[in-house]
Amino acid sequence: MRSLSSDPALPEILPFENKIWLSSPTMHGDEEKWVDDAIRTNWVSTVGENIRVAEETTAKKVGRKYAVGLSCGTAALHLAIRLCGVKLYGMPKPGHGSLEGKRAFCSDMTFDATVNPVAYEGGEAVFIDTERDTWNMDPEALEKAFELYPDVRLIVVAHLYGTPGKCDELRRIADRHGALIVEDAAESFGATYHGAQTGSFGDVSILSFNGNKIITGSAGGMLLTDSREDADRVRKWSTQSREAAAWYQHEELGYNYRMSNIIAGIVRGQLPHLEEHIAQKKAIYLRYREGLRDLPVAMNPCDAQTEPNFWLSCLLINEDAMCRQVRGDKDALYLSEPGRSCPTEILETLAAYNAEGRPLWKPMHLQPIYRAHPFVTREGEGRGRSNAYIAGTGIDTGADLFARGLCLPSDNKMTAEQQNIVIEIIHRCFA
Ligand SMILES: *Cc1c(COP(=O)(O)O)cnc(C)c1O
Repeated sequence: MRSLSSDPALPEILPFENKIWLSSPTMHGDEEKWVDDAIRTNWVSTVGENIRVAEETTAKKVGRKYAVGLSCGTAALHLAIRLCGVKLYGMPKPGHGSLEGKRAFCSDMTFDATVNPVAYEGGEAVFIDTERDTWNMDPEALEKAFELYPDVRLIVVAHLYGTPGKCDELRRIADRHGALIVEDAAESFGATYHGAQTGSFGDVSILSFNGNKIITGSAGGMLLTDSREDADRVRKWSTQSREAAAWYQHEELGYNYRMSNIIAGIVRGQLPHLEEHIAQKKAIYLRYREGLRDLPVAMNPCDAQTEPNFWLSCLLINEDAMCRQVRGDKDALYLSEPGRSCPTEILETLAAYNAEGRPLWKPMHLQPIYRAHPFVTREGEGRGRSNAYIAGTGIDTGADLFARGLCLPSDNKMTAEQQNIVIEIIHRCFA
């Protein structure tokens, strides 16, 4: 790492005494009250008032008829994808997935929890490249994918970093091809697209209350739907698929995925603070945008049609301001150059000052586990490319964003003074 204090004209920066986190939980007090309430009344299992209130409040907030509390967002995605698989292809035999031998179109730039449930259900994810306007699934590439794979009937889309994707266009394409949409709003709770909440666009949608999300239950997730029948079915699957009988009677495969009333107590205490967290995250985003505007960088996109929840503030370095950076599967090297920088240099420097950033989510088509899967760009069938990125080679959008982008410390407890130091550190990386 280059020493940032080598220039004697610049004041020395000391590392932060307490770590500045990427995004950490923020408790307010009511969480404890509802958890205590569950313990005091002995409703500590997977039934209780906290679950009922958390589900009702969430459904109302998002504008859906039903919300089903589950153990985590990944479990919600699994049951959402299984539900769609069963709707499309019928109930599989035990030992088989509901997507056995079928393909599903999936967001490529996302956390792997979005797409893994396709594999849990025996399906093959086909990754769809990313557009630059919102960093989400590219409708043009999706259209191309339907030309190449006209039989596909399931689309799994995520809203990255809290910025809604092109919901209307994706929906139009899905409807034209008779496909169902599973919407992963794990990162975008509270964000809106043309005034409608994310989580309201999918045939089935999900949220996550993982510890790093905009609000948290320490864990937990929810499945959102407008169908009473689907909500009942998912609730039943999530509690081991017990039939209404005196003994344990099973007609369908079951899972132990239900949310506990303790977790729901934390979620219940956090829900009233969602808008406040969004306002804090938005202030962080705007402060970065203002503080970094003289550098050859752009922030993650935010356009007029959407109001993101600003969960993470991200930076994209201009192509001509990238220093040389090479990434292997698990490590990275760069060459420091005056006037230029790269995600690796900025992240290593931030870490040296006790601040946590992270590279952008590595696209799924570049992941060793999914490298053999089809990947579709606007131009057609792509291929898992090498990790090495060379500017201006016309590489796919996902690989390009991954090479040049990073997530900045976005913790809502970071003070303006601390953020100004982070901004100064980033400036010195480009010095
Ligand atoms: C966090 C996250 C999930 C998984 O949620 P968990 O509650 O951690 O299981 C799924 N998709 C995306 C995009 C996420 O960021």
